[in-house]
Amino acid sequence: MNMTWTSIQPILIPVIVVGGLGMAFGVLLAWFAKKFAIKFDPAIEKIESVLPGVNCGACGFPGCSALAEAIVRGDAPIDSCPVGGTRTWQEIGRVLGKEVSVRETRKAVLICQGGNEVATTQAIYRGVADCRAATVYGVSFKACHYGCLGLGSCQRICPFEAIRMDETTGLPVIIGSRCTGCGRCVKECPRSVLTLLPARDLVVVACTSPDTARSVKAVCRKGCIKCQLCVKVCPVKAISFPDGKIRIDRKICTLCGLCVDKCPTGCIVRNIRNSVPAEASSSVPVPAVPVEVEEPMR
Ligand code: SF4
Ligand code: SF4
Repeated sequence: MNMTWTSIQPILIPVIVVGGLGMAFGVLLAWFAKKFAIKFDPAIEKIESVLPGVNCGACGFPGCSALAEAIVRGDAPIDSCPVGGTRTWQEIGRVLGKEVSVRETRKAVLICQGGNEVATTQAIYRGVADCRAATVYGVSFKACHYGCLGLGSCQRICPFEAIRMDETTGLPVIIGSRCTGCGRCVKECPRSVLTLLPARDLVVVACTSPDTARSVKAVCRKGCIKCQLCVKVCPVKAISFPDGKIRIDRKICTLCGLCVDKCPTGCIVRNIRNSVPAEASSSVPVPAVPVEVEEPMR
């Protein structure tokens, strides 16, 4: 069979055109791939593998992966993950070949003792059992405007189930062995009665009210009445009263406990950190549903 140009032309031309286009696109794709290639640093993967992987957001990044990238880029310090703690920071330091200064591990502490039978409840609350919702209009069913509301928002936000609500006091209890110091509860609490403190023996003023003695006494039996007896009794002058609130300088405090004994309302507490073993804590989940406070207490 005789193959002439005229007979193969209808097949050859499309093959040449398609082949040419294919090559052109191939070259273009290769150029794009090179130009916009994402450079992957193996250190990111290594750092991610030493991070806890809980994606709790305590570091301020959307997850462990984002934090690993930020650390490698130099946009976040090596000790950004409060959950991982010293061991994790040292591992990251090893990956990056950098020295890591060790800082104290911190855990959540409740600085209020105004639970049931201690603080006055002045109204019946029928709203959603959420501490933020309960403070939207600045209205408080608790007579103290600074104390814990006891609606358990901190318990629900904790990614590590390190908080339980105590049935008797109505206050949150931090389970020290589970708390990682991520600080989610601290950010969640609208009353700022949760704080992160070094995980060691401490003496703490468990009241944040700036109110006068008369106002405090009217609403809580364990509030700070600013009598300043603690300031006077402290042998090393670790306690001061600079801005309407009692402050304890932890660098000076020797944990002698004299202020704890002297405080007439018992609002200075030693070893406030409640290290309830996880297994011994009967967690009482507080549902986010409307609740009623039936009996206003006086
Ligand atoms: S500590 Fe704060 S968040 Fe938790 S129950 Fe009390 S007011 Fe609510
Ligand atoms: S108790 Fe607070 S700081 Fe501790 S793990 Fe839970 S949310 Fe984080």
